[in-house]
Amino acid sequence: LRVIRGVEPRIADAIGAELTDQRESLKLIASENYASPAVLLTMGNWLSDKYAEGTVGHRFYAGCRNVDTVESIAAEHARELFGASHAYVQPHSGIDANLVAFWAVLAQRVEAPALADAGVRHVNDLSEGDWTRLRRALGDQRMLGMSLDAGGHLTHGFRPNISGKMFEQRSYGTDPGTGLLDYAAVRAAAREFRPLILVAGYSAYPRLVDFAAMREIADEVGATLMVDMAHFAGLVAGKVLTGNFDPVPHAHIVTTTTHKSLRGPRGGMVLCDESLAEHVDRGCPMVLGGPLPQVMAAKAVALAEARRPEFRDYAGRVVDNARALGEGLLRRGARPVTGGTDNHLLLLDVSGYGLTGRQAESALLDAGIVTNRNAIPRDPNGAWYTSGVRLGTPALTTRGLDTEGMEEVADLIHTVLAHTTPTATASGAASRARYRIADGVTERVAARAADL
Ligand code: PLP
Repeated sequence: LRVIRGVEPRIADAIGAELTDQRESLKLIASENYASPAVLLTMGNWLSDKYAEGTVGHRFYAGCRNVDTVESIAAEHARELFGASHAYVQPHSGIDANLVAFWAVLAQRVEAPALADAGVRHVNDLSEGDWTRLRRALGDQRMLGMSLDAGGHLTHGFRPNISGKMFEQRSYGTDPGTGLLDYAAVRAAAREFRPLILVAGYSAYPRLVDFAAMREIADEVGATLMVDMAHFAGLVAGKVLTGNFDPVPHAHIVTTTTHKSLRGPRGGMVLCDESLAEHVDRGCPMVLGGPLPQVMAAKAVALAEARRPEFRDYAGRVVDNARALGEGLLRRGARPVTGGTDNHLLLLDVSGYGLTGRQAESALLDAGIVTNRNAIPRDPNGAWYTSGVRLGTPALTTRGLDTEGMEEVADLIHTVLAHTTPTATASGAASRARYRIADGVTERVAARAADL
């Protein structure tokens, strides 16, 4: 920080303040974690200065031998950790990884056959008419993914993301009674809609997904099964999710982030079989800029960490902790959606406390508990105010909290929410953002949280 302070002190201060915030609060954001010092240090070095468009051994710049080493090792760890035949470690983020996967599937399923039909070997050889036909074919594809309010992600075909412009989208939700994924309903939607890509994976679904069942559905309608395991990659790496719940043996293509439960640097990754490999490897320059060698190096370090026995232990504790947190909340009268969790996250319906998700998120933050508001299935408050908060245990588990600690965290969350009331705006109208916490509660909770 001393070196940075000499150049731009405000940035040094912000970094220092972030460290303090992360130390002094309880981080329950389900998509966050604490990367190890080895991972952090691998990102701040001279690899960052190198351009390396292309793939290992096939670069558009000279002098890439060290980047080749780094990228090969990261891909090797990814293949071996997840049992995948091909790994592409260049994507800069989860969104980028998904974009790479979408283009790879389009290239394999639409572009390549359309080119063959037109009797040409390369897009550059297409006539104007062929081009028009190809563009229409590319733009006329369908994607079926989990709805946002059931826990799906924006990149699974929703309008604010490019996937919603590239594909005609339809979504499947969860059963209104149980809150669980209804495979018969997914099958019915797939039969009717006939998507090119069936997307499985989520950001806010607290239960397991049967990927073997999803593959069966995809096969029945001729869809490519893409699983976005961004959230639960650490549980797959740690062998907590195995058999039907491990997406890698079942999906045609798997995407992930590397920074959530996997505990690596911010970034993305694509795993696939050999039939998609050549299309995936064209991610740069199709949709990605030059790779970030320092981040690929940090991915290699994080993946090496995830191959150690300690990581299996960590992944198991993440799930035990989430379950304990859910049970602790349930016992206090709170309402976790589906009644609890099988993975690393909980979705807490806060309407029973008379609050919106926005009010709950703000009140918890005041007490040093960092969460994010999140829509619940069929949420009457929409995606901005919401009726829920999402709680995840990867970060607190990294900090060493156990199930007893989670019981205390459940009590802290319940105490804050039970002592928070909505308030009206100046004009007297009910507000979905304003709230008041009873006197002294914030301080008491923050003091107890500091002891954890
Ligand atoms: N996919 C899923 C399921 C996610 O939850 C997220 C992030 O929250 C992403 C993709 C996007 O990841 P990134 O923010 O790295 O682009």
